[in-house]
Amino acid sequence: MRVVIVGAGFGGIAAAIELRRHGFDQLTILEGADELGGTWYHNSYPGAACDIPSHAYSFSYAQRRDWPKLCPEQPEILAYLQGVAREHGVAEHIVTGAKVWACRWTDPGWRLATEDGRSFTCDAVVLATGQLHQPLWPAILGRDDFTGRSFHSAAWDHDYELAGKRVAVIGTGASAVQFVPEIASRVASLTVFQRSGNWFLPRRNRPYPRWLRTVIALVPGVQRARRWFVFGIGESLTAMIRNPRTVGLLGRLRSSVLMRWQLRNRELRRKAWPDYTFGCKRVLFSSYFLPALGRENVELVTSPIARIDPAAVCTGDGREYEVDCIIYGTGFRTTDFMFPMEITGVDGRSLAQDWADGAHAHLGMTVPGFPSMFVLYGPNTNTSGGSIIFYLERQARYVRQALSLVRSCGAGAIEVRREVEAASDRATQARFAGTAWTRCDSWYRSKDGRIIANWPGYMRQYAAATRTLDPDEFTLLPRAGA
Ligand code: NAP
Repeated sequence: MRVVIVGAGFGGIAAAIELRRHGFDQLTILEGADELGGTWYHNSYPGAACDIPSHAYSFSYAQRRDWPKLCPEQPEILAYLQGVAREHGVAEHIVTGAKVWACRWTDPGWRLATEDGRSFTCDAVVLATGQLHQPLWPAILGRDDFTGRSFHSAAWDHDYELAGKRVAVIGTGASAVQFVPEIASRVASLTVFQRSGNWFLPRRNRPYPRWLRTVIALVPGVQRARRWFVFGIGESLTAMIRNPRTVGLLGRLRSSVLMRWQLRNRELRRKAWPDYTFGCKRVLFSSYFLPALGRENVELVTSPIARIDPAAVCTGDGREYEVDCIIYGTGFRTTDFMFPMEITGVDGRSLAQDWADGAHAHLGMTVPGFPSMFVLYGPNTNTSGGSIIFYLERQARYVRQALSLVRSCGAGAIEVRREVEAASDRATQARFAGTAWTRCDSWYRSKDGRIIANWPGYMRQYAAATRTLDPDEFTLLPRAGA
């Protein structure tokens, strides 16, 4: 069986390792960039690191005992992923510089076309392009007229020397809170434009002391115990988000204590304080962002941006902030998933049309009318409390089970039954009722407010739901000529 995986980030590599281990060795991984790594290849801004501890943010079968700190930085994570891909023999299956623009069901099988004119055919396709890979440039009047330097956090301009410059940062999400403290001491002035405040939890992330590194490296079981501890912390954060009126108040209290301590200036505290339920947007882990806002050369602006002039960012209250550089920390087009890739299924149906009112897929992976097509990190599989690697490993196993079923039955392809997908979507959506996620706007939601990014429950529930593929939920399509 020929399988093409689109994307060589954590998801694509997880799928390739799982499939190869089970004898699916006709694998091709198409990667648009020049190197594998996905988000950890593209996002190289100063301070880029994972805010999920590496015990959890790593594959269960490739645990390292020598991480230098709790949450390693981007170069270490990228090197880890590249090392795992090499060690498991999947690196040689990667075709880089192959950006897929079309993916068509050709009955049987799939045909994929890349932007440089190549085409690939296969029996099954795994779309592992993720939710956070297309930078969002905000629609602000005059943005293109700015004559200074500007770039997005996901494509950091390392050739531009920020030292001594007047810099504006637009956005205060998980990326901005990592790079703002890094650049604040270097620039002449930093104006941070915030549309919404955030809830913060501490993350100091100092290098491990030598004794702890030794204990982790030498004492059996310590690494495993820490992994399960981190898992428990993640599940407890989900409990806070799921129950905003009870345990959620504990999260809010913990965050408030940190924020009050770090924001001694009353006016700054008023401006930075969030006006929505704890956990509705992503909770941010940083002990350094709020103190950076208190620096003399840093100003937090909460008046909405009205327009961008050739040399200034102008706000609705009539003020103009002259700057040399604008850095957009404005996040990603999360609800687009793999689009604008053209995906066409049975009878020429378009995935973009099927998902026009918001993406949905059975367990985030399979869509009726698109046989043997699997989405990794698809709709409703993002986590607000936990590690996405945990989800990706489960998805890789589920895909492998589906393809093993096709193989063992001598079938041509596998397709989720329409009523199964519809029921699972209804059940997923129903589980958001009463949770913090429903209480504000966020990148988790489509235009009409449907939450399409996040899994509504706990990691352990996703593991249970995906542990064993139920053949009754699927239809097997015959092989060509059978
Ligand atoms: P983000 O969380 O979506 O933040 C984007 C920021 O830009 C928000 O503050 C948003 O304000 C603001 N914004 C967007 N459009 C705007 C506009 N037109 N005018 C003014 N402000 C605007 O993006 P991100 O920081 O890149 O993070 C995205 C996700 O990537 C995270 O949630 C996380 O899942 C992941 N990430 C993870 C890590 C990690 O350590 N694990 C690190 C970085 C990123 P609003 O809040 O008002 O929309």
